[in-house]
Amino acid sequence: MMNHETRLESDTSRCRRHMLAKNGPFLVESCGCGMVHLTFGFMTVRIAPGAVDALCATLLEAVQNLERPRAHAH
Ligand SMILES: [Zn+2]
Repeated sequence: MMNHETRLESDTSRCRRHMLAKNGPFLVESCGCGMVHLTFGFMTVRIAPGAVDALCATLLEAVQNLERPRAHAH
Protein backbone atom coordinates (compact mmCIF):
# COMPACT_ATOMS: atom_id res chain seq x y z
CA MET A 1 0.00 0.00 0.00
CA MET A 2 2.72 2.48 0.97
CA ASN A 3 4.84 1.44 -2.02
CA HIS A 4 1.86 1.97 -4.27
CA GLU A 5 1.28 5.46 -2.88
CA THR A 6 4.93 6.36 -3.35
CA ARG A 7 4.88 5.14 -6.92
CA LEU A 8 1.64 7.07 -7.56
CA GLU A 9 3.24 10.23 -6.22
CA SER A 10 6.31 9.92 -8.44
CA ASP A 11 4.11 9.09 -11.42
CA THR A 12 1.90 12.12 -10.92
CA SER A 13 4.87 14.42 -10.42
CA ARG A 14 6.16 13.41 -13.85
CA CYS A 15 2.81 14.09 -15.46
CA ARG A 16 2.09 17.35 -17.22
CA ARG A 17 -1.19 18.40 -15.70
CA HIS A 18 -3.67 21.11 -16.56
CA MET A 19 -6.12 22.25 -13.91
CA LEU A 20 -9.73 21.90 -14.99
CA ALA A 21 -11.50 22.81 -11.78
CA LYS A 22 -10.79 23.38 -8.11
CA ASN A 23 -13.18 23.74 -5.21
CA GLY A 24 -11.85 23.60 -1.67
CA PRO A 25 -10.09 20.26 -1.19
CA PHE A 26 -11.30 18.98 -4.56
CA LEU A 27 -9.11 19.34 -7.60
CA VAL A 28 -9.63 18.01 -11.11
CA GLU A 29 -6.82 18.04 -13.65
CA SER A 30 -6.41 16.70 -17.14
CA CYS A 31 -3.07 15.04 -17.55
CA GLY A 32 -0.43 14.40 -20.16
CA CYS A 33 -0.60 10.69 -19.33
CA GLY A 34 -4.09 10.68 -20.82
CA MET A 35 -5.87 10.24 -17.51
CA VAL A 36 -7.88 12.67 -15.45
CA HIS A 37 -6.50 13.28 -11.98
CA LEU A 38 -9.06 13.69 -9.21
CA THR A 39 -7.51 14.99 -6.01
CA PHE A 40 -9.47 14.87 -2.77
CA GLY A 41 -7.25 16.45 -0.15
CA PHE A 42 -4.27 14.11 0.22
CA MET A 43 -5.64 11.44 -2.12
CA THR A 44 -5.27 11.45 -5.90
CA VAL A 45 -7.25 9.09 -8.12
CA ARG A 46 -6.62 8.73 -11.82
CA ILE A 47 -9.56 7.79 -14.00
CA ALA A 48 -10.04 7.46 -17.73
CA PRO A 49 -11.48 10.56 -19.42
CA GLY A 50 -14.41 8.47 -20.60
CA ALA A 51 -15.30 7.71 -17.00
CA VAL A 52 -15.51 11.39 -16.07
CA ASP A 53 -18.92 11.70 -17.70
CA ALA A 54 -20.20 8.73 -15.74
CA LEU A 55 -18.71 10.08 -12.52
CA CYS A 56 -20.21 13.51 -13.15
CA ALA A 57 -23.62 12.03 -13.95
CA THR A 58 -23.47 9.93 -10.80
CA LEU A 59 -22.57 12.93 -8.65
CA LEU A 60 -25.26 15.07 -10.25
CA GLU A 61 -27.85 12.37 -9.65
CA ALA A 62 -26.71 12.07 -6.05
CA VAL A 63 -26.97 15.82 -5.55
CA GLN A 64 -30.41 15.89 -7.09
CA ASN A 65 -31.52 13.07 -4.81
CA LEU A 66 -30.09 14.93 -1.83
CA GLU A 67 -31.91 18.12 -2.76
CA ARG A 68 -35.15 16.35 -3.58
CA PRO A 69 -35.22 13.30 -1.33
CA ARG A 70 -38.94 12.78 -1.91
CA ALA A 71 -38.32 12.28 -5.64
CA HIS A 72 -36.43 9.14 -4.74
CA ALA A 73 -39.31 7.20 -3.28
CA HIS A 74 -38.68 4.10 -1.21
ZN1 LIG B 1 -1.02 11.68 -15.23
